[in-house]
Amino acid sequence: MTEDKLVVLGQASVGKSTLINQFVHSIFIDVYDPTLEDAYLKEVKIDDEWHLLDILDTFEYEDYTPLKDSWLREGEAFLIVYSITSRRSFDKVATIREEVKMMQEYSDYVSIILVGNKCDLENERQISREEGQDLAKTFNCPFFETSAKDRINVDESFFSLAREKKFQNEKRLEK
Ligand code: GDP
Ligand code: MG
Repeated sequence: MTEDKLVVLGQASVGKSTLINQFVHSIFIDVYDPTLEDAYLKEVKIDDEWHLLDILDTFEYEDYTPLKDSWLREGEAFLIVYSITSRRSFDKVATIREEVKMMQEYSDYVSIILVGNKCDLENERQISREEGQDLAKTFNCPFFETSAKDRINVDESFFSLAREKKFQNEKRLEK
C-alpha cells in the first residue's frame, strides 16, 4: 500500500477542517476549533491501487504568520484552499505556494492542487471560476471548485492530490 502524506493549507475559515471531515467521515459539522492541528487516516483505492492517505489539518494564527516548517518539510502533497467568497483568501494562495516550494527538497516537482471551496455560496462569490482556473494554470496544477457543505468535488480533490503526488514523483525519477 502506498502511503501519502497530504497537507491541507489555506487562510483561516476557508473550510479546511470541514473539507477533511467530509472526505474522511462524510459529515458536515458547522463549528471547528480554528486552531486544530490534527492528522486523519483514510484508506482508499485510487486507480486500482490502495493508498493510505495521512491527512494533516493545519491553521494559522494571523493573516501573515509563516506556515510551520515541519508541515511544509514533511508533507508530500499539498491541497491549497481558498474560499470563492473571499478575495483575501485567494490573494494568499501564491504566498502559500512559495512557502511550500521553499521548504521542499525537490521544489520543481512539488505536488500541489488548488481548491476553491464554498462553491454552494454562489451569491457571495468574489472569485470567478475562471480566475481560479487561470491561477492553477500558472501553477500548472489541477484545480477544483468544491463545497464541503454539499460534498461537491471533495473525493475528487483528495484523489487528484494523491494522483498528482504519483505523477510528480514519476516525473522527477525520469530525469
Ligand atoms: P478552516 O479554518 O479553514 O479549517 O475552516 P472551517 O473548516 O473551520 O470552516 C469555517 C466555516 O466555514 C465553518 O462555519 C464551516 O461550516 C464553513 N464552511 C466550510 N466549508 C463550507 C462550504 O463548502 N460551504 C459553506 N456554505 N460553508 C462552509
Ligand atoms: Mg480548521
